[in-house]
Amino acid sequence: MRETNFLVENNARHLWHPMAHPAEMRANPPKIVNAAAGVEITDLQGKTVLDAVGGLWNVNLGYSCEPVKAAIRDQLDQLPYYSTFRGTTNSPLIELSYELAEWFREDGLTRAFFTSGGSDSVETCLRLARQYHKINGQPERTKFIALKKGYHGTHFGGASVNGNANFRRNYEPLLPGVTHLASPYLYRNPFGTEDPAVLASLIARQFEDEIAFQGADTIAALIMEPVLGAGGVIVPHETFMPLMRDICDRHGILLIADEVITAFGRTGAWTGSRLWGVKPDFMSTAKAITNGYFPFGAVMIADRIAEAFEANKNSYGAIGHGYTYSGHPVGAAAALATLKETRRADVATNAAARGAELMAGLEGLKAKHEIIGDVRGKGLMCALELVADRKTKASAAKDVVATIYEGTYEAGVMVRTSGANIILSPPLVITTKDVERIVAALDAGLAKVAR
Ligand code: PMP
Repeated sequence: MRETNFLVENNARHLWHPMAHPAEMRANPPKIVNAAAGVEITDLQGKTVLDAVGGLWNVNLGYSCEPVKAAIRDQLDQLPYYSTFRGTTNSPLIELSYELAEWFREDGLTRAFFTSGGSDSVETCLRLARQYHKINGQPERTKFIALKKGYHGTHFGGASVNGNANFRRNYEPLLPGVTHLASPYLYRNPFGTEDPAVLASLIARQFEDEIAFQGADTIAALIMEPVLGAGGVIVPHETFMPLMRDICDRHGILLIADEVITAFGRTGAWTGSRLWGVKPDFMSTAKAITNGYFPFGAVMIADRIAEAFEANKNSYGAIGHGYTYSGHPVGAAAALATLKETRRADVATNAAARGAELMAGLEGLKAKHEIIGDVRGKGLMCALELVADRKTKASAAKDVVATIYEGTYEAGVMVRTSGANIILSPPLVITTKDVERIVAALDAGLAKVAR
């Protein structure tokens, strides 16, 4: 490997990072992650820390998942690539489709369409939702409704339904016909309620009102994350998603559950939809499907929707959508091995148990550190929201957040910051000792800014 100076200089000179200002990456060079094992990563200076980000919400089984690595190596030797466009398929992918149908049978989703990641999966859902209505004789149903603070990736469709101005403004104009409802973000909500059930019903009422205003016959789908991730880990009241499902049903609107983060156990349930007792029409998945070791995703399609496509005899039936890497055999082999390990390790149960411990630890930190305004989480997706003042809820300053981040890293734990939020999404295989380590390191990081 090249020496450190070469790497740092050329990272600044030749590499643009996602979700970062190029100038900031020059002024404040990113950490060069050089190795990983178990639930830890090691930087170029040789410092090893617990990865409480879990890669990017995706390395659910940690970095030493040998069966997944072996499956990737073996598949590379057997068949490193072939397309699945009309005319060809491959055996690991067929086996994966069979396994996914078993995995999601309880959710009523037994058809899969494969992608190269979360943004592709979202795009696929949006496009197939429109196509379904065309097949179904309602071609004017083209609009989408989404939630503020929702995150749905960065393709133009996903950016259009995205509920965060930072991911929209620079790329406008976006898709027409997209409306955003209020977010189920209790800590800061436009209604001034402190009751999450009331907030859920107010947003549901807003949804009904929007449908009446626009006309149900113009709306294709509602897209939502069962637990909003990148928007700051927003956990809606348990009534929220069922209320939204019911409204969709009454108005012929499809429900797209964006489960790029929540599928495969992160919330403590196998899917976020199942957590809330809801059956979506489309489910986007990616990330943990290959434990982060290979870019891959799957859209799961409800039987009712799939059957309409399969029985269709008009000119709308063919799927004019897909990617060169849809159904990549190496990704399929990685996913098959990942699903097997995910089930064997029963990571959803561990996510629920360790998540409860982590939340208790974070509540303890809130009692100690004034700067924590809000603690949120479900399973092993958690957030601390940092404020300059608990009364006014003014957000903590950027440099304060950065000091806490660096302090926590020094103390041995990698976390992720997003605005004034510290986001935690560790591997789902962490132990109670790991949870204690995360809380202790955060405590040390927070102490750096204590008065
Ligand atoms: N949807 C959700 C809910 C996500 O969290 C993400 C990624 N964080 C995406 C879509 C986009 O996925 P990707 O970055 O793999 O394109």
